[in-house]
Amino acid sequence: MQPGELIAADRGARHSVPADLPHAWAVLEQVMDPEVPVISVVELGIVREMDWHQGHLRVVVTPTYSGCPATEVIEDDIRSALEQAGFAAPQLLRRLSPAWTTDWIKPSGLARLQAYGIAPPAHSTRMRSLLGDAAPVLCPQCGSAHTELLSQFGSTACKALYRCCECREPFDHFKCI
Ligand SMILES: [Zn+2]
Repeated sequence: MQPGELIAADRGARHSVPADLPHAWAVLEQVMDPEVPVISVVELGIVREMDWHQGHLRVVVTPTYSGCPATEVIEDDIRSALEQAGFAAPQLLRRLSPAWTTDWIKPSGLARLQAYGIAPPAHSTRMRSLLGDAAPVLCPQCGSAHTELLSQFGSTACKALYRCCECREPFDHFKCI
């Protein structure tokens, strides 16, 4: 980092308002997942915590899975959205344990996935461990349970590609992790 940037960061830090955590959450409600641009990083459940640490906002992010190539894009988007909202030099921490699970997607996020044409995870991971892999993936277009897996990898590695046997439409399914 250049000396000038350090000075700028320090000057910005003095404008931080520690009482402004709800505002920070509201800002991140507007940061969309780059892979599924209808769901925010908050609805996706990957923003785990925010607090103030030594005058800077600290954001804990748990990526959807550790090798997800979108993670750095998401972290950059979070950082720049917060900086534009006046939070100087936010610190991002990546927490891998406990691992993200589809159970962390908020109900509003599940509804958005469905409306976007992505079949949301049908059962919690706990239910799936009880039921095994027998739980059907429902077609987001017509709701049919008569669907088939075309590929373990859909438009991104986080999703699998399915096809509905009723309406013949292919669709992405968020993998249950
Ligand atoms: Zn269908």
